[in-house]
Amino acid sequence: MYPAEFEYFSPRTVDEALDLLARYGEDAKVLAGGQSLLPMMKLRIASPRYLVDVNRIDALTGLSRVGDRLVMGALCRHADIAASPLVREQLPIMLDAANLTADVQVRNRGTVAGSLAHADPAGDWPAALLALDTAVTIAGLDGIRTTPLNEFIVDSYTTQLGANEMVTEVSVLIPQPPCGGAYVKFEKRAGDFAVASVGVQLELDERERCRAVAITLGALGPTPLRARSAESLLQGKSAANDLLGEAARLVQEEAQPFDDTRGSVDYKRHLAGVLFRRAFAAAMDRARGRHVATLHM
Ligand SMILES: Cc1cc2nc3c(=O)[nH]c(=O)nc-3n(C[C@H](O)[C@H](O)[C@H](O)COP(=O)(O)OP(=O)(O)OC[C@H]3O[C@@H](n4cnc5c(N)ncnc54)[C@H](O)[C@@H]3O)c2cc1C
Repeated sequence: MYPAEFEYFSPRTVDEALDLLARYGEDAKVLAGGQSLLPMMKLRIASPRYLVDVNRIDALTGLSRVGDRLVMGALCRHADIAASPLVREQLPIMLDAANLTADVQVRNRGTVAGSLAHADPAGDWPAALLALDTAVTIAGLDGIRTTPLNEFIVDSYTTQLGANEMVTEVSVLIPQPPCGGAYVKFEKRAGDFAVASVGVQLELDERERCRAVAITLGALGPTPLRARSAESLLQGKSAANDLLGEAARLVQEEAQPFDDTRGSVDYKRHLAGVLFRRAFAAAMDRARGRHVATLHM
């Protein structure tokens, strides 16, 4: 199917893009990788009259360390993350998310910022990045503001972004060793969206107790969720098997899955517990300095 007719703009600066968004308001959409927007336009789920293609704005490219944060321009693609030595060494949870998102073609075009702005409840980046201290930088004609990811996404496919605003940057605090993270996902077919997914990010103390722990759930609610009671249970403790069993039970309780073509509520709850155990084990191994490749299942 063909999309409805639209007018196309290709600004070279953020200011030009913001002027266009201010001029056309709700009728305009930012186009980044196009991997979500173009399929929606072809299916006529979205029919923006004006497309503001930001791909020629050089200021939105790049992926670098700035102080204690990894800063990704809004045009940072899934494949850029997978190719980053810094990500590979210090943020393996992000390497997992990049490796598990879609297929090579989508990963070469799709952007992290676009995934967050799209806010698909089954999206991989929202669930994986919620386990980290992630901030989203938003530009509008009134200036720039930065918001934590947990406040940026407010509901399924809904963010704080106003019609006249755009994401310019996403940044993540680089965790301090000994630490480890992992993101695991169950999908029906390779390259598909998650039936359910779980992210775990750990920091250990000198006796291998959890000094900090974040557990996130993807495709298990209207937005990505933090499993707060499981986190509280593990906080300050060593990960003995019976404790992890209880944490897995809490994760299942905290999930808010819904029935759909990908699975029933009971099936997804079951998956939440299994995925948590696998993500936790991989995060722990990585925190101990062992190499663990992205888990494909
Ligand atoms: C075959 C296929 C399989 C896929 N599988 C997966 C998967 O397994 N997991 C997964 O998570 N995703 C998957 N996706 C989606 C893919 O990851 C998209 O790349 C991503 O969701 C959106 O990024 P994008 O840059 O392509 O955004 P676009 O499609 O360009 O835009 C998406 C939305 O975000 C807005 N937007 C984009 N950038 C900005 C910005 N800088 N500021 C403000 N608004 C912005 C757009 O206006 C639009 O509303 C799949 C897509 C396809 C086509």
